[in-house]
Amino acid sequence: MFTRMPYNFHFEMGTVIFLLLMLFVVFCKKRLPSRIMKLYMIHLILLILFNLSGAVCGMVNMGIIQVAPAMQTLWNVFDTIVSYLTMINYLLYLFSLAYLCNFRKKYIYIGMFPMAFLGLVAVIRAMFGAVVCMPVGHGGVPEWIYVASGVLSFIYLIAVTVTVIIYGKRMSIRYRVLIGFLNTMLLAAYVVQSLEGVNFRVIGPTAAIILFIHYLAMQSPDFYIDNLTGVFNQSAFAEMLWQNVRYQKKTNCLLVRINDYNTLVRLHEYEHLSYLRRQLAEMLDDTARTSSIYRISSSTYAILGQEADRVKRLYELLLAYLPKRWEIEDETIPVEYCYYHLQYEGEDVDFEKLTEWVNYARSDHKGHHQPGELIHLEYDIMTEAEYQREVLHQIEEAILDQSMEIHMQPVYSMEKQKITSLEVLSRMKDENQNYINPEYFIHVAENNHRILQLGELIFRRACMFASQNQIFDLGIEYMNVNISPIQCQDEHLTENFIRIAGEFDIPVERIHLEITESEFQDPQAVEQTLARLRKSGMQVALDDFGTGCSTLLGVLELPLDYVKIDKSLVWSYDAGENRFLDDLMPVIRAEGKKVIAEGIETEDHIEIFRRLKGDFLQGYYFSKPLPEREFVNFVKEFNHIE
Ligand code: C2E
Ligand code: MG
Ligand code: MG
Repeated sequence: MFTRMPYNFHFEMGTVIFLLLMLFVVFCKKRLPSRIMKLYMIHLILLILFNLSGAVCGMVNMGIIQVAPAMQTLWNVFDTIVSYLTMINYLLYLFSLAYLCNFRKKYIYIGMFPMAFLGLVAVIRAMFGAVVCMPVGHGGVPEWIYVASGVLSFIYLIAVTVTVIIYGKRMSIRYRVLIGFLNTMLLAAYVVQSLEGVNFRVIGPTAAIILFIHYLAMQSPDFYIDNLTGVFNQSAFAEMLWQNVRYQKKTNCLLVRINDYNTLVRLHEYEHLSYLRRQLAEMLDDTARTSSIYRISSSTYAILGQEADRVKRLYELLLAYLPKRWEIEDETIPVEYCYYHLQYEGEDVDFEKLTEWVNYARSDHKGHHQPGELIHLEYDIMTEAEYQREVLHQIEEAILDQSMEIHMQPVYSMEKQKITSLEVLSRMKDENQNYINPEYFIHVAENNHRILQLGELIFRRACMFASQNQIFDLGIEYMNVNISPIQCQDEHLTENFIRIAGEFDIPVERIHLEITESEFQDPQAVEQTLARLRKSGMQVALDDFGTGCSTLLGVLELPLDYVKIDKSLVWSYDAGENRFLDDLMPVIRAEGKKVIAEGIETEDHIEIFRRLKGDFLQGYYFSKPLPEREFVNFVKEFNHIE
């Protein structure tokens, strides 16, 4: 027979001290705000409470501390509840380690029944005066219920362990074996504790040791820290994103990228840029306050939160707050920022898709968005990005094969009352044989440094068409070719065009070039090229007049031969929405420039320019842009040429 030993609370007090030290250490380290880490911290605190209340309870029950009977009951109830919560939290922790969220509902809610049953029984038992470690009766609760609930929860812990080991595929096999081993230790501690004669709560120190081993086995917190800035890194971000998807947790993330960082690296000192990126992390941290900051590529930062409104507010704050010029030692670094809003509503979007969006935010796509614009990462933007890649591919193919489809739109002379000119409009098809909007592929070519080659190809095709069809024998006097403002910045443009025209025996005087007003990037270079083109004998038209933002008078100062009134201006004038043209036309004509009106679709449009004394008309009224053969036939018929 065992003699009843006095209760030994030293084990539990020692455990409390050990756990407090651990709490301190874990607390001092920068922790990823992940579910796993939160549950771990909660478990640590619960275990401290568990051991503390166990020790106090034992002392109260053994009479080492004298309290009123009601207080004794209360302590016992408190102790039972804490043990119960500690157990549940441990199981949740195990589930979260394995990211078994779908099991979470099934197992936790269904499986918690035996646990709840045990909890209830234990509380009743405590109220009826049980003594920790040395049961002295079960307070009126039949023995079998007590045993059954104990056995049930024992089985439940085994079931959870087996589930985690089998389905927790995201953990390495070693880690799963370790969990199996630790939980076996825990079960053994239960058994040992129920043996008679054991005079302390074995489960307390055992659970503490298990918790410590979990800490050793988990990913080191340093693994998630970015060395350069001290904020969280890419791995941390991936972990958090993964977690949110697994638990279908609503996520809103603001991504901030330094625009065109690669160019900055070429132009500025690396040390200064590192300093800049550190400071930027700090500024973001200051602004975002409670949300965590992640640096997810050399120049991209992410701020993870839950509310969409907050992302918008943060964006507005940052837009005003982040410096556009950094003065670092003797260097001035101009910086533009790109902002993206990644939104995940907890629906069935897969992790891959989110990663794709994040990758989109991490890469440069010059000119595609306005600087400072908040870009919403949605399905559209991805298809847009894919489409852009496809279009670029088509452009590259066209340049390689030197093949390009062109359509011609006739231009009607008011004076001569016949077609005297044409505009060359390039055409390109996508993989599905649908025409791509020319403005779009020109834009893509511009952004990907292909516009010079593409522009030359278009010019060559136009010359080839003119020479093969002898168009200047059909009453046609000029041929208008569009050029991008970027081409105007190329100092070899004039000589290249002269050379190509020469190859096809086309006099340069026959060539008119159309340039748009809105995007003059380097006005001086553009002006020089325009002057050179005109000096060589070509003429220059300003396209899309009335759509750009430049001042009208500024435009008139440019060395130009023609002004091409944009169709939107023609249509709005026709609709009575503005009267600019009444004042403008005389000024343009007084400057000696001729006027082409575009978008002429009706008799009314023609009437307007008859009254305003326009020189040339172009539009669907006469004809849409036509393929080569059809155009030639059209002109022959219109100009009565056999
Ligand atoms: P743009 O140079 O202003 O060309 C006129 C556009 O207006 C053409 O559209 C033409 O089809 C359209 N248009 C002409 N008359 C009418 C009309 O009466 N009604 C309507 N609704 N539309 C009319 P398209 O061919 O789609 O070209 C669009 C733009 O793409 C061009 O505007 C030009 O900026 C650019 N583009 C086209 N080809 C080239 C090229 O070879 N090089 C360059 N740099 N840009 C080009
Ligand atoms: Mg044009
Ligand atoms: Mg136009």
